[in-house]
Amino acid sequence: MLALKNIKKSYTTGDFTQVALNGIDLNFRENEFVAILGASGSGKTTCLNVIGGLDNYDSGDLIINGKSTKEFKDVDWDAYRNNSVGFIFQSYNLITHLSIMDNVEMGMTLSGVSAGDKRKKALEVLERVGLKDHIHKKPNQLSGGQMQRVAIARALANDPDIILADEPTGALDTVTSVQIMDLIKEIAKDKLVIMVTHNPELAHDYADRIVEFKDGEVVSDSNPLPDKEVNSQYKLKKTKMSFLTALKLSGTNIKTKKGRTFLTAFASSIGIIGIALILSLSNGFDKQIKNFESDTLSTFPIMISQTSAEIDQETLKAQQGSILGTSTDENAYPEDKVIYPIEPVAEKVMHTNIFTEEYIKYIENIDPKLVSGISYTRMLNINLLKKQDDVATIVKTNSMNFTSYPKSLDNNGPSYLEQNYDVIAGSYPTNKNDIVLIVDKKNGVEKTILQTFGLDSKADSIAFDDIIGKELKVILNNDFYKANGNFFTINGNPANLIDMYNNPRAITLNVVGILRAKEDVKISLLPSGFSYSDELAEFVLNDAVNSDIVLKQKNSDFNVLTGEPLDTAVDISNPTGMSSKETIMSALGATTTPYMISIYPTDFDAKEAIVAHLDEYNQDKSETDKVVYTDLSGTITEMSGGIMNAITMVLIAFSAISLIVSFIMVGIITYISVLERTKEIGVLRALGARKKDITRVFNAETLIIGACSGILGIVIARLLIFPINSIIKNVTELENVAQLNPLHAIALILISLVLTVLGGTIPAKMAAKKDPVEALRSE
Ligand code: ADP
Ligand code: MG
Repeated sequence: MLALKNIKKSYTTGDFTQVALNGIDLNFRENEFVAILGASGSGKTTCLNVIGGLDNYDSGDLIINGKSTKEFKDVDWDAYRNNSVGFIFQSYNLITHLSIMDNVEMGMTLSGVSAGDKRKKALEVLERVGLKDHIHKKPNQLSGGQMQRVAIARALANDPDIILADEPTGALDTVTSVQIMDLIKEIAKDKLVIMVTHNPELAHDYADRIVEFKDGEVVSDSNPLPDKEVNSQYKLKKTKMSFLTALKLSGTNIKTKKGRTFLTAFASSIGIIGIALILSLSNGFDKQIKNFESDTLSTFPIMISQTSAEIDQETLKAQQGSILGTSTDENAYPEDKVIYPIEPVAEKVMHTNIFTEEYIKYIENIDPKLVSGISYTRMLNINLLKKQDDVATIVKTNSMNFTSYPKSLDNNGPSYLEQNYDVIAGSYPTNKNDIVLIVDKKNGVEKTILQTFGLDSKADSIAFDDIIGKELKVILNNDFYKANGNFFTINGNPANLIDMYNNPRAITLNVVGILRAKEDVKISLLPSGFSYSDELAEFVLNDAVNSDIVLKQKNSDFNVLTGEPLDTAVDISNPTGMSSKETIMSALGATTTPYMISIYPTDFDAKEAIVAHLDEYNQDKSETDKVVYTDLSGTITEMSGGIMNAITMVLIAFSAISLIVSFIMVGIITYISVLERTKEIGVLRALGARKKDITRVFNAETLIIGACSGILGIVIARLLIFPINSIIKNVTELENVAQLNPLHAIALILISLVLTVLGGTIPAKMAAKKDPVEALRSE
């Protein structure tokens, strides 16, 4: 049943209210051809729109299937328009970017008819209106009459019960008008057709019933229907546009403005390009640093000193902060007119590592494959004699530190020296009494070192042969120091020294080789000069511990050599943090534990494993029992990594601005598109599209733009990486630095999608809110 009961509708513009419908009462038969006549402005179109559910009435009721529509929701109206009503407009209202076929199919598409059925039905109705040969054309390739035939075919396609035609021949010439009217008359055989026209002749020639409007009221009705006879059954199936349809609609629409879409996508992609390039550069530099680290820095020893400057994370962060200027120490640069007494720096940062036997064992128990060598720095003043022209003299090494060359833990593998140093004369050391001379890249050795060993430091150069085979003697404490009451002395007269030198108890050291760092070793870690084995140091120390002078010194509170009183308190000015008594004891060889341990990792992964091994020792130790190590390469890497991250963040922040710009731009473009497609929105709504479907159409459009800009951005960034890498190669000789991580690429495309869809949300919502009647009226 379709019946209008006292329908009223008025429009208010400003403070002027125009009554369009002023109490319309009309009943329609299930099958009749009704013509509505009336002057322009008499409310015909408004009435038709109300009947078709395009426009809402203010009061009264529209009865469909015997039911009031007062409680109709949007979905009900959408379903009604889609299934029960077919609209034919004066200005055809075809979607210009779709083919004839697609235009006709649209209503069925909205109600979810399968592709095959849709095609069959569309062909059938197009044949019926005589356009079978034009199905692949676009609307603008047709004449006015043909376009109106398409509109009629579209109205028929979903097999509605009611056809509403608003001046369908208004824009056509007389001959064509007659053809169209014949077609409508034909349709009216089994449907309710309500046609608005201001042409009484046409109305009288074709219609079964003529209703005349004047000033929003029905003034005459040639064949009214009494209330009780009204009876009909209209189908009301819910509609829904699939996202694929929305994509197709937007896709074909975008095709009609390729240039603009490309420019928009390109402009929006600039942010993506920026971020992609920054990420690939920072990625690449990170990798380069890692390579450098594993090549070079990993060979840096991990150092464990008895007194270790504890560079904790906080200090490190503070340093990094001050370098980058990001530190915010609130208490810095006070205005107060006072000074603050603080603890000495040494006491604050020093941590005393206690090297127990157990700890040394723990370290030496490490997997030998991880370590290319371990060297010990010991506090020991070794008693060395040299002989020159039959005169023996004491070698003043001028240093309390006795550093050995790194010893291997694994006797099968190549030693640290073999791995990193070439023998340029002689051989590698093989036993504890072998010494080697380490020279720098240019075979240089400091003059003072040469002098101490009785070599001619004034000469321009010294032949290898003059060095290889050179002998030195180590004199054990009991031979070197002579007791004299409570004191000990060194008998330095030449006769005594030569006796010591020739004494069979003296240990003979031989210079067996001259070593130079291999060419591919970037940083040579052993200082140039003579280098001893740790076994020698151990041997000397084991002897010294029980020597007379050490035993005596242990029980004296004065220096047994000088008579100076000794202080047992920690001497802050001494970098080793030892008391003066401990210092003299160490010098005499009383301290068998090393002062510093350096562990040389085989490679980067080994370094990590060693660090883990050292950390494990500390796991459940109290703060004072912990042994703190210095991982210099780790510290450098961490710092460079931190700086790299900071720079990357800043650059990304800049590029993000261009992303925001593109986000706004896509919003504007979508808004323009909404304005351009207003008519299409009206048509879709008239065909039963829900508000949601309209939103979908525009979301699909922004999604396409977003995908285009994301992909375009990644492609351009990928192409730019070639010249960038060749520039970097020219400047730094590093190859393939910039590398785009595929995950980053995907993430960026997704970001572009999300941002553009967000940018298009508001315009898409606006589109959905458009009043269909107004949308249809727009040009
Ligand atoms: P017809 O189709 O008979 O020419 P309409 O139904 O289009 O007449 O219009 C009826 C009256 O309502 C007219 O006076 C018109 O100006 C007014 N009207 C129609 N639509 C609107 C609108 N959206 N806003 C204001 N007035 C309107
Ligand atoms: Mg009108």
